[in-house]
Amino acid sequence: LGLLASLPNLKLIVGLGAGADHILADPALPARVPILRLVDPYMTDSMSEYVVWQVLRLHRQDLDYLAQQRAGIWREREQKNAAERSVGILGFGTLGQDAGKKLKALGFAVAGWSRAAKTVAGFATMSGAEGLDALLGRSEILVCLLPLTPATVGILDARLFARLPSGAGLVNAGRGSHLVEADLVAALDSGRLSAAVLDVFRDEPLPPGHPFWAHPRIIVTPHIAAETHPPTAAPILVEAISRFEAGLPLDTLIDPARGY
Ligand code: NAP
Repeated sequence: LGLLASLPNLKLIVGLGAGADHILADPALPARVPILRLVDPYMTDSMSEYVVWQVLRLHRQDLDYLAQQRAGIWREREQKNAAERSVGILGFGTLGQDAGKKLKALGFAVAGWSRAAKTVAGFATMSGAEGLDALLGRSEILVCLLPLTPATVGILDARLFARLPSGAGLVNAGRGSHLVEADLVAALDSGRLSAAVLDVFRDEPLPPGHPFWAHPRIIVTPHIAAETHPPTAAPILVEAISRFEAGLPLDTLIDPARGY
């Protein structure tokens, strides 16, 4: 923090990830220096693989079958088809829409939630505070791919969990601070939620002894859903910097007023 303010000739800030919350969090961030974020199809594919992997795990009751295996129990559990399982995606931007398309290809009934109203062919879309209830009410599996902003911090809380179908599953691959940790543990322990897959945490690395490590209904991955991949990212950033130097428009600039 404060480093960027010490650079008097700074013309462009180039983020090396999809989110820019860490850059915008700098209270001394120089005003009027444009901020570029990385949009890399390689990373988008990587995130979609992660989301599909985890949604399938929840859908096919992986935690329960693993527990049965450990206990030596052979028991068939009731199983729905993907077409009977509704998935809601919070954040229907670059990552959310790609994951949505891949889930839809598997047959899942997918809906997406964004800030501004939008039409995406083949998907139910909701937006704004008034659209959130409709999305949550139909989301047996909820995936968070939101950017972290003042409007989305702590969005995954007890109030939101109460609006999901009973026994819903959660995947958070947005940011750790989207989640109110104590509310998640309470929702899992009461059965309001059936399971949660978390790739991002308020404190990373997740501290030793944190209750998430050993919770039987939580799957922890160490922020690996979509890592920056230098061989594909570098040419994309070089191209963007060249466009910037040539005065051409850039389509991956952060809007600091919006917060993403
Ligand atoms: P993006 O293209 O900017 O999409 C963001 C989406 O969130 C948009 O649909 C946007 O709505 C929506 N949104 C933002 N604020 C909202 C609000 N207050 N209410 C409702 N919807 C809101 O971003 P992206 O490339 O998909 O990336 C999303 C986030 O994923 C990143 O910011 C980062 O935090 C996270 N991420 C995590 C990993 C990982 O490894 N776990 C890797 C990469 C990214 P509009 O469409 O109306 O603008």
